[in-house]
Parts: sequence; structure tokens; C-alpha cells
Amino acid sequence: MPEPLWKSRQVARNAALAKGEEIAKMSGFATGPVDPFKIAESECGQIHLEGDDFRDAFDGRLSYHDGRFLLIYNTRYNVWARNGAHHPKVRFTVAHELGHYFLDRHREFLVNRRLPIESFTEFESQHEVERQADGFAAGLLMPGYLVSPIINSDAEATVESIKLAADRFDVSLTSMMVRWAQLSHFPCATLCIRDARIQWGFVSDAFRSCGLWKAKRAVAISGWDARAFLAEDSSCGTFREGSGTGWAADWLEGESDPVDVQESYLAIPYSRCMLVFLTAEESALAKYREDDD
Ligand SMILES: [Zn+2]
Repeated sequence: MPEPLWKSRQVARNAALAKGEEIAKMSGFATGPVDPFKIAESECGQIHLEGDDFRDAFDGRLSYHDGRFLLIYNTRYNVWARNGAHHPKVRFTVAHELGHYFLDRHREFLVNRRLPIESFTEFESQHEVERQADGFAAGLLMPGYLVSPIINSDAEATVESIKLAADRFDVSLTSMMVRWAQLSHFPCATLCIRDARIQWGFVSDAFRSCGLWKAKRAVAISGWDARAFLAEDSSCGTFREGSGTGWAADWLEGESDPVDVQESYLAIPYSRCMLVFLTAEESALAKYREDDD
């Protein structure tokens, strides 16, 4: 029987993420932040970098010309608060474009077809090629070997813990929150809300193993607290934080009895979206695990 499509896509995304982690390790990064500009520069002149404000045309663009790659990144996000030379979104974009360079099939496409790849980065795009490059960027900037020990030393992670880790790796809260759900051994999930609907989400293994196996998509948010937070400013034009409670079934697909969740909300102005970070008590899930045995 051929492999189902979702499975082969998952395998490709995981491979891209692992490739990003491998490049971070091979480049000698033993602590955060990982610098994607340095990695581009260490390619011995193979990659020429150029940044400018391209408004909303694209976040990044990679093309191949006469044996060299031209990597263009959009600096428009640098108007938002940042710690280093560039906003974390710009760093993520450069890492994403490096994915198109380091992933074999992406590079072959660029070299053989002589067509540029234009990107919207940081989980904005649904296209598989873009999701692979986002996976590469997440692995490069937040490799498991550096980030997982931090994430899993904290059984009761809060948004404050995630902010500290995001600062340490100079990545956005959005990216670190995604990585948190991917690597955490505890029940948690990260969701992105746009136009009052769930755009995407990532769920930790602890939720998945209890039957809550993935985030809902393209459905309107239903929890009362979450809707009240969004209603205060549905444009998400300024940074805001809030919290509330709800049910796992408001956000996640799967089969389980009702599970109470704690919800943290963030309005993220540069991407005009609302992030939700969910956690549950491990004890609330324990009985489902026993059922599995
Ligand atoms: Zn791309």
C-alpha cells in the first residue's frame, strides 16, 4: 500500500527540520542565538545577501545566477522592537531561504528551472515547499540539542518562560512557542488565530498520546475567554497579553473526554495575529494514558 500523503509530507517536514539542526551543529553553535547571516557568509561566496524594504511583496526571495545564489530578505519588520541588528522575523526569513539552499530538492529546482522562489515565512504559507523551509528555519535557529533541555526543565511553562527562551535565541515568541509545543514532554499546544479563525497549530506529544492529536484548522474560535480577549482589539494592532480557561476540544481535534485547559493569549502586531498557548494538568490526562495500556 502506498504511503498516505499526510505521512510523506510529515516525513519531508521532519527531514527538513533535522537538516536545519544538523547545519547549526556543523557550524559549531553550542549556545543560542544561532546566526543565519554567519551561516550564509560561511558558504564561501556562494550566497550573496541583500536586504531592503519590499513592503508586502514577499518576506524573502532566493534565485540562482551563474553559479551563485542571490538571497533577498525583506527588512520591513525591522521597524518593530528588536534586540539585535534585525527583527527575529527577518532572521527567520534568512534561515528559511537557507532552507531552499540547503535542502537538495529545493536547490535542484532553483538551479535546473532558473526560477526564483519567493517566500512568505514563519508559518504563513500552506504550501509544502514553504512548510519544509519553515521547518528547516525552526531547526536551524532552535535546534533540539540546544532548546529541548531548556523546554523540558520546566514542567509548568508559562508565557514568561517562553519569552526568556525566545530572547536567548533571538527568535520571535511565535517561533519559540511553536518549538515549545514540538519539543515539550508536557501537555501543551500553540495556535495562531487570524480573522477569529484558527489558522494553524502545533500539539505536544503528551496531548497527542491522549487522543488529542492535532490542532483544528479554519474554524472560528469558540471559547468565551478567547473571544473576549480578541474582541478588545480584533486587529491585533498592539501587543497585548491575557489569559483564560476553556476546553481542549475548543482547539484540538481528537477523541477524549473533556479536558480543562489553561489558555494564554497574545496579540502580535507585526503579524497581526493572536497566539494561544494551551496547557493542561498532566493529572487531567493521566486516566487516558492508563486506558492505553
Ligand atoms: Zn520559501
